[in-house]
Amino acid sequence: MSNLNFKISELIQSDTAIAHNINNMPDINSLDCMLDLIFYCLQPIRDKIKKPIIISSGFRCKEVNNLVGGVSNSQHTKGQAVDFTVKGESVSGLISKIKSMNIEFDQLINEYDKWVHISYVKGKNRKQTLKY
Ligand SMILES: [Zn+2]
Repeated sequence: MSNLNFKISELIQSDTAIAHNINNMPDINSLDCMLDLIFYCLQPIRDKIKKPIIISSGFRCKEVNNLVGGVSNSQHTKGQAVDFTVKGESVSGLISKIKSMNIEFDQLINEYDKWVHISYVKGKNRKQTLKY
């Protein structure tokens, strides 16, 4: 593995958590899932796109997830999902590029043409592409 462009802190950072003074800390299982997301999804995408990936939401503790209106069983609460954008790339363009990359993922979702949601679940990846 070459150098990583991601820090776990980027997947934990949450403006909502800060605004509400919530400690948005993952447990060890979520942390493990976040590392998988970086190794198997984010870094391979970053290496191919060759542009910075801007993470808008990664891990969300239950409290933060409720505040942002996430579904209760959201993969974000397990550290299995991340939302991101890339400057100068449309969401639909990113989705098609990622689909052609031959990387493993559980769900790849175009969310309202605003951001890409990608999730990874070790051993249970459905490789599903959706649009909301
Ligand atoms: Zn998401």
